[in-house]
Amino acid sequence: MNQPLICMTLTGRTLEEDVNLVKKYEKQVDIVELRVDCLSEDEQFYARRFPTMIQLPCILTIRRDIDGGKFTGGEFSRTNLFARALAFANEDKSRNFAFVDFEDDYHIPSIQDTAMAFGIKIIRSTHVMNPVEVNIKGRYEKMRKTGYEIPKIAFTPRSLDDVTSLFSQSREITDYEHILCAMGPEGLPSRILAAFSNSFLTYVSPNETIDCMKDIGHIDMLTLTNIYRFKNISKKTKLFGITGWPLIKTLSPKIHNAGYQKHNIDAVYIPIRTPDISKALNFCDRMKVNGLSVTIPHKESVLYYLGEQSPEVVQIGACNTIVKNGDKWCGYNTDATGFQRALEEFIGSEKIKRRKVAVIGAGGAAKAVVYALKQMGAKVCIFNRTEEHAQQLADRYGFNYCKLDTHCIEKLDEYSSLIIQTTSVGMNSEDKSSNELDPIFFYKFRGDEMVFDLIYTPSTTPLMLRASKKGCRTCNGYKMLEYQAYEQFKLFTGKEY
Ligand code: NAP
Repeated sequence: MNQPLICMTLTGRTLEEDVNLVKKYEKQVDIVELRVDCLSEDEQFYARRFPTMIQLPCILTIRRDIDGGKFTGGEFSRTNLFARALAFANEDKSRNFAFVDFEDDYHIPSIQDTAMAFGIKIIRSTHVMNPVEVNIKGRYEKMRKTGYEIPKIAFTPRSLDDVTSLFSQSREITDYEHILCAMGPEGLPSRILAAFSNSFLTYVSPNETIDCMKDIGHIDMLTLTNIYRFKNISKKTKLFGITGWPLIKTLSPKIHNAGYQKHNIDAVYIPIRTPDISKALNFCDRMKVNGLSVTIPHKESVLYYLGEQSPEVVQIGACNTIVKNGDKWCGYNTDATGFQRALEEFIGSEKIKRRKVAVIGAGGAAKAVVYALKQMGAKVCIFNRTEEHAQQLADRYGFNYCKLDTHCIEKLDEYSSLIIQTTSVGMNSEDKSSNELDPIFFYKFRGDEMVFDLIYTPSTTPLMLRASKKGCRTCNGYKMLEYQAYEQFKLFTGKEY
């Protein structure tokens, strides 16, 4: 099987808009798909001109609304559009559409014959929108009526297990070209790892239009080519990744994949999104993923599946890194050392020993932070919304604790020379001024506090903004992220980042 092609889907309102996008990305893209259903009604009639306006092979698609497209006219109008786009095809085949996408239930012999007569290949596609069991090979056999068609299945997985099954089933399909993709956030591995499913192509969106395609799981052009280096992925490529849920934004793929590139390692690191850690591990076992970063909400639930735990994991009670050793997973925690290194850099020469430190939050990240602060000799008070969680964590190290609410101001004041924010409040926030996005909105800064927020998206949280306006020194969690990732990199590859 050949290396999968990169197919850029064009959803512009005009042909000119689409042509401009093709020109911008033509060096990275192998083929484009013209979504005629996204063009304005006037422009739809001129679709046949499109292949003559660009230098890349093109797929003609007119997707109905019932299949997730925008075409709302009847089948008669759609057939008319197909006829206009195909029947007047140019005699110079390179200036025609190279492919046409017909749904599995669309059988108009005259249109099909026209496509075949002009050497335009037919993609026979089915969009399974409802979560049903997908028997890929069985479906393909039914779809390939003439043997001329390239069958395509796009489906919405019920869970990551359906994506795992997609890879297992498609491994055997090597005797004809086919297209496979799983949609939605859990389907992302099917798009990046098309080489592993023997898919003929993978669909991407230009960065300019990715927002309207994100829901169905499209990935943007630059991320696929620059971060995942799609063209370098083969079945020999070693797999690593990060699992979590919803895992909307993560910078970890950027850091790890840049490391593989720097060290010339044939490996790729991908997001494996799932709310169920056991499904992530099932995916990893079947796909031979060698190492995994573990993030919210799996850092504690993963412990159950570990064959071995590092002393830090045992002490902290949370794990953010797992590495496959034979048939067992070994768990590590790189958050604690990543945090310590970033904090030492932030506070510079100022000693942390015996310093009073406020830790806001008592979740998975706080566990690593408090462990590190104990090693560093700090005196800690843990403030948390659920007091019981703060107490449990504090008791483990003989630290103080307090319920996080408007009554804790006095205590917070006492421990405020260094405030470490570890909750998820303020993460991915755009509105930087809302009280709801600042876990200690009731606390008035003096200006001499130092504030370390573990969040790195956005780079300035509402809390950091408020503190810095009063003159406080602040630091976000990016350096911690980098340093813990460097350690993971070493655990995964045996090499210093
Ligand atoms: P977690 O285990 O789910 O813990 C969440 C914490 O936030 C708990 O203490 C929870 O309090 C508190 N919380 C949640 N919503 C709250 C609200 N509305 N008001 C007050 N407190 C609230 O998550 P985690 O793994 O600790 O991660 C927390 C944050 O740290 C995330 O933003 C994550 O991105 C960041 N992080 C950064 C790095 C890095 O490398 N920079 C590493 C790890 C984590 P309750 O106990 O009351 O539920």
